Amino acid sequence: SLKERTVIVTGSNSGIGLGVARTFAGAGAKVVLNSFTDRDEDHKLAEDMAREFGTEVRYIQADMSKGDQARGLIEKAEACDVLVNNAGIQHVAPIDEFPAEKWDAIIAINMSSAFHTTAAALPMMRRAGWGRVINIASAHGLRASPYKSAYITAKHGIVGMTKTVALETAKEPITANAICPGYVLTPLVEAQIPDTAKEYKMSEDEVIEKVILAKQPSKEFVTVEQLGEMALFLASPAADQLTGQAIAMDGGWTAA
Ligand code: NAD
Repeated sequence: SLKERTVIVTGSNSGIGLGVARTFAGAGAKVVLNSFTDRDEDHKLAEDMAREFGTEVRYIQADMSKGDQARGLIEKAEACDVLVNNAGIQHVAPIDEFPAEKWDAIIAINMSSAFHTTAAALPMMRRAGWGRVINIASAHGLRASPYKSAYITAKHGIVGMTKTVALETAKEPITANAICPGYVLTPLVEAQIPDTAKEYKMSEDEVIEKVILAKQPSKEFVTVEQLGEMALFLASPAADQLTGQAIAMDGGWTAA
């Protein structure tokens, strides 16, 4: 049972992180929400979730672009049985025009934060005698697209890190896996639709099918609930021997 387990989800006041956190709270786990924002609504989100699911939910502010703060998140939580590395940002530009500070931020938030949190969490998992590292990578951890050099580098990197952590923990009751989602209709993706529709002179439905879901054969979005259930499965005893894998949930994208 997950009742006595603490689940830390980085970048979890929105989108996939929030969906995964809600799924674990629904399964009775103690949940730690995180973002760098520290607004009243972040704290309220934790209070509301605790009330809704009748479990302990805490909000801990930490900026995943800073290694010491990523480690600090795990230390402040004082327990970490399931670590979900989810925080991520995107920037789209050709590589020769890609702003260096955006490159550094994406590598730090989407990749290096997981190095720091994993390094801080593994000793706690070893003391507890059980642990799960779940990295939210992307179909872009397995395939490339133009103009997303930093994101694709970071996501391929985190897939490599996942395999290494799995080998280093292989003889212990700890697993490390990556989930590689295709497109998910989070606020981030949703916000791009009206402008893209204007640019392409298309309806919003056409933008979804012909621009956003162009690579996704199912022509349907993956949902945060489906990703939450996959994460929950990875934390279940059925997945004890499932380690070092990059599991695509992408409507067939990486099958092509
Ligand atoms: P989102 O913008 O809704 O969520 C991003 C989360 O990261 C937010 O909670 C935000 O607060 C947090 N975050 C950003 N910068 C941070 C920082 N410096 N410190 C701490 N937290 C920070 O986007 P999302 O779509 O839910 O993305 C979540 C993860 O899923 C990302 O790693 C993203 O790359 C990945 N992903 C998304 C999609 C998609 O289609 N939406 C597909 C594949 C993978």
